[in-house]
Amino acid sequence: MAHCAICGAASSSHDITGDAMTKHLRLLACLLAALPCIALAAPQSAKDQALSTRVDRVLTETPVIDGHNDLPWEIRSQFGNVGNVDLAADTSNLRSKAGDDVHLMTDIPRARKGHLGAQFWSVWIPTSVTGPEAVQMTLEQIDIVRTMVAKYPKDFEMASTADDIQRIEKSGRIASLIGVEGGHQINNSLPVLRDYYALGVRYMTLTHGKNTDWADSATDKPAHHGLTPFGRAVVHEMNRLGMLVDLSHVSPDTMKAALEATKAPVIFSHSSARALDDHPRDVPDDVLRLVKQNHGIVMANFYPTFVSQAVANWNADRAGASAKFDALYVGQPKRAKAAMDKWKQAHPQPKATIAEVADHIEHLRKIAGVESVGIGSDFDGIEVTPEGLDGVDTYPALFTELARRGWSDDELADLAGRNLLRVMREAEAIATRLQAQEAPSHATIEMDAAAKSDSKDGTAGA
Ligand SMILES: [Zn+2]
Repeated sequence: MAHCAICGAASSSHDITGDAMTKHLRLLACLLAALPCIALAAPQSAKDQALSTRVDRVLTETPVIDGHNDLPWEIRSQFGNVGNVDLAADTSNLRSKAGDDVHLMTDIPRARKGHLGAQFWSVWIPTSVTGPEAVQMTLEQIDIVRTMVAKYPKDFEMASTADDIQRIEKSGRIASLIGVEGGHQINNSLPVLRDYYALGVRYMTLTHGKNTDWADSATDKPAHHGLTPFGRAVVHEMNRLGMLVDLSHVSPDTMKAALEATKAPVIFSHSSARALDDHPRDVPDDVLRLVKQNHGIVMANFYPTFVSQAVANWNADRAGASAKFDALYVGQPKRAKAAMDKWKQAHPQPKATIAEVADHIEHLRKIAGVESVGIGSDFDGIEVTPEGLDGVDTYPALFTELARRGWSDDELADLAGRNLLRVMREAEAIATRLQAQEAPSHATIEMDAAAKSDSKDGTAGA
């Protein structure tokens, strides 16, 4: 919804796109309607200014902790290595190694403007990379993060604990943590999981877009219907290490199985509310209720497809049109592309808005509680963003929208960073307790085959 700059009257964005004459007539009508209240125009804008000053103060005191940013993969795929990109300057208009235009969403000046205090950098690799190669590629991604942090010592510092995050924020730098975005990246090895922890990894997403050998993805055919025995052993070893269990990307059955298995609060590093957008990457209400009991956190994703049902529908329509043209013009890729270009012209992608992201956060708060919401932008892992949320400088615009809706300073601070710090502290305390009681786990994936044959024997005997 747009508002008239003069009288503050609500008008749909459709109104603003009318022809010039209509616009002028509307403006005139608006002016006339506003005459009696023209004196209120100044207080209205003063109110907006006051909200944004308030948000600046809240975020200066409690900076944003973002659960998910894919800059490391962008650095690798577009520039080769950290040496080839200058994060101390504006990165919104760059040229890649291959000569393509690159519009990064992350750089240091914008992060400063956006009050970013801590970032979980994702060390994502494609699910097509498996086995020992997946481990090597993950180590290379971790190296990108560590090299990036070392290159800008006045701006970044690696953080291992919640206390580290707060100390680094106070020193005026951005605390940097690492998230492994897919269980396939450990190649079914708990020793590899432990090595990742030693290198600074503080969460692992149990799956990415495909099932692993021990957990189901939200975007693959169900195979395990939850977690296998080895999957539960992975969750337990993560609890023992103090590595957060991330349930973004996993299927609802696996979310529930992990919530049952875990001893520590879980996170969703970058997921929104499924009640508002029926996409499998979002979190259903029954799981949100379990997250509340678990004291976990759902860090809201900004990706338009996960935020706006209209955008999700458009994506499905686009996929349908693309399949149709590929079939109609089989063996004629140029013709198929021309037909697709025409389709896109006739069906422009709908835009998601800051207000829609705020709606998700309010829904997460309604079901899971204000102590269980956070921010997980997915910046530099998404090709489009909601209007006005296009980079790490724009978090304050989202907080201002929530302040306008009546969120208190305390609630805004919870959302910005306090909730994630609490989750980390609880996970750290549980790890300390478990480490005093237990040795590192030697569970292997072979236990799943053994459990299967045991259960078959059991069935045969019954
Ligand atoms: Zn993701």
